[in-house]
Amino acid sequence: MNLESKILKQKTMAELLRGGQFLVTETTCEDVFTPEDFSEEQTMMKEAVQEFNDREIIPHKNRFENKDYALTEEVMRKAGELGFLGVSVPEAYGGMGMGFVSTMLTCDYISSGTGSFSTAFGAHTGIGTMPITLYGTEAQKQKYVPKLASGEWFGSYCLTEPGAGSDANSGKTVAVLSEDGKSYKISGQKMWISNAGFCNVMIVFARIEDDKNITGFIVEYDAANPNGITLGEEEHKLGIRASSTRQVFYSDTVVPAENMLSERGNGFKIAMNALNVGRIKLAAACLDSQRRVTTEAVKYATARKQFKTSISEFGAIKLKLAEMTTNTYVGESASYRAAKNIEDRITMREAAGNTHQEAELKGVEEYAIECSILKVAVSEDMQACADEGIQIFGGMGFSEETTMESAWRDARIARIYEGTNEINRLLSVGMLVKKAMKGHVDLLGPATAVGEELLGIPSFDTPDYSKLFAEEKSILANLKKVFLMVAGGAIQKFGADLEEHQQLLTAASNILIEVYMAESALLRTEKNAKRNGEDSQKHQIAMTQLYLYNAVEIVLKNAKEGIISFAEGDEQRMMLMGLKRFTKYATYPNVIALRKQIAEKVSEENKYCF
Ligand SMILES: Cc1cc2nc3c(=O)[nH]c(=O)nc-3n(C[C@H](O)[C@H](O)[C@H](O)COP(=O)(O)OP(=O)(O)OC[C@H]3O[C@@H](n4cnc5c(N)ncnc54)[C@H](O)[C@@H]3O)c2cc1C
Repeated sequence: MNLESKILKQKTMAELLRGGQFLVTETTCEDVFTPEDFSEEQTMMKEAVQEFNDREIIPHKNRFENKDYALTEEVMRKAGELGFLGVSVPEAYGGMGMGFVSTMLTCDYISSGTGSFSTAFGAHTGIGTMPITLYGTEAQKQKYVPKLASGEWFGSYCLTEPGAGSDANSGKTVAVLSEDGKSYKISGQKMWISNAGFCNVMIVFARIEDDKNITGFIVEYDAANPNGITLGEEEHKLGIRASSTRQVFYSDTVVPAENMLSERGNGFKIAMNALNVGRIKLAAACLDSQRRVTTEAVKYATARKQFKTSISEFGAIKLKLAEMTTNTYVGESASYRAAKNIEDRITMREAAGNTHQEAELKGVEEYAIECSILKVAVSEDMQACADEGIQIFGGMGFSEETTMESAWRDARIARIYEGTNEINRLLSVGMLVKKAMKGHVDLLGPATAVGEELLGIPSFDTPDYSKLFAEEKSILANLKKVFLMVAGGAIQKFGADLEEHQQLLTAASNILIEVYMAESALLRTEKNAKRNGEDSQKHQIAMTQLYLYNAVEIVLKNAKEGIISFAEGDEQRMMLMGLKRFTKYATYPNVIALRKQIAEKVSEENKYCF
């Protein structure tokens, strides 16, 4: 489809929701993209990637677990030959120039074999290549991107230092300009660098003089001519064992001045924007692992007999299978919803005259809140999924012989890199507040309305909840009010000092996350129910109801903690009453029956089947 016809099918920029606006605007199911909306081209891409994963990665699981770094490099090269490293790279630089949804599905379906490969893939295609495609000059892009897209060269991203982790702008690596102004000499130490052992290009962040912000550089690395670069030994890690992770030392490494990325002092911005893209892709990279772990767990539970019964027949196991399946479905729903929002915004910006580079940068930046939400939610769901997977396998789950053990170890890193989950939780709310201050998202109006509602007399009418999700939608709208009540109250109380109140911000973020995830699942299911009939979606409806029920419990706990921390006396009582009202069901779903229904469906299909 060409650009023009794509645009015809889409909304105008003003109509497309801005990042974070989901909280204050009602989104209809027609407005969201779902995995069931994949185009023919996207489906073909998905199948090609799945086939690659099944052929090149999964059968070699043991070699990856035994730290066969050479295999990671070899498979990366094969991925390059098939074009997978260049899915999001514009055709002008040797890539496939596919949209953001295709990029996401590549990260998704290539990732379930081993976290080692998905880390190498993510570090290369995301933070190793994107800074150049997004911020490079034409000459830099021509020189580096085609080689990175084809897998002739590999990239790494060198931001973290021993003293600068989450506080990424505090690095001590320096870049000193030569007297003739033609080059910089970089000196310093980086650590935890993925792909360091086999990369040819490093995106290195260093400080020039006493600049407030760091600067990005493209640094070539050739082991035969190291130019002052030495690598530490491979780190011995809990998981992702065949992903190369090393320290990198720079001693007067000469870098041509034209290899500066963007402008002096722009490095922190580059680093953060690269991480935004990295975060949503990392969420995608956890999805197929969840599918696969769930499938393995279902198969084992069906085959394993204790007390002359398949353990899948036991309610305690059904509970786990249902939660694993549900969280996977919800993660998919939210990831592809956000991916399409990003893709649409990029398309619209291009249509409005932005270059692809500018459009992509702004498109992803716009949904940075959703990127953080997804990174946190899906990485934690993956961890929980693998944990319960081990439990379902019992003693065998603890054995290296089964896939559960490595899935659990590999999942652990996703909560740490691309910004820890603590940092991303703080960021999600912090960015939303900033957007509100800039007038990009109107939080004040809706928050004031919630305040008035709290003071008013509640309606005792019984609404008509007979239509699909009528009650769930009303609850979701109420959960949004809970966020506005807690966040609005906190802003009023602490103003600019709010960032000092991290526990409160974390509680607010937990509410925000649940709202986005639950709403995404609801809209996906509703969309599919409308086009295929409710009967075809009965398990998806059950999953949506189960997730929302769990979300309400999480919101209740977090909001209560938050309110008690900043409100007192009558104000506290009023808010707690409001919370009770906003989290109340007219008819509670029978979640035990829902879990049974979901677990029995996956057991019958003997796999994750949604
Ligand atoms: C396997 C692996 C691969 C990696 N790959 C790369 C790579 O390719 N390139 C790269 O540059 N980096 C990479 N990293 C580094 C990674 O991004 C950092 O480990 C991460 O950002 C956290 O930094 P840190 O380890 O210094 O922890 P710290 O920043 O010291 O954090 C420790 C704890 O304190 C919390 N914390 C810190 N600051 C705050 C705060 N302000 N408020 C609340 N809590 C806070 C954190 O959330 C965390 O729980 C990798 C790390 C690993 C383990």
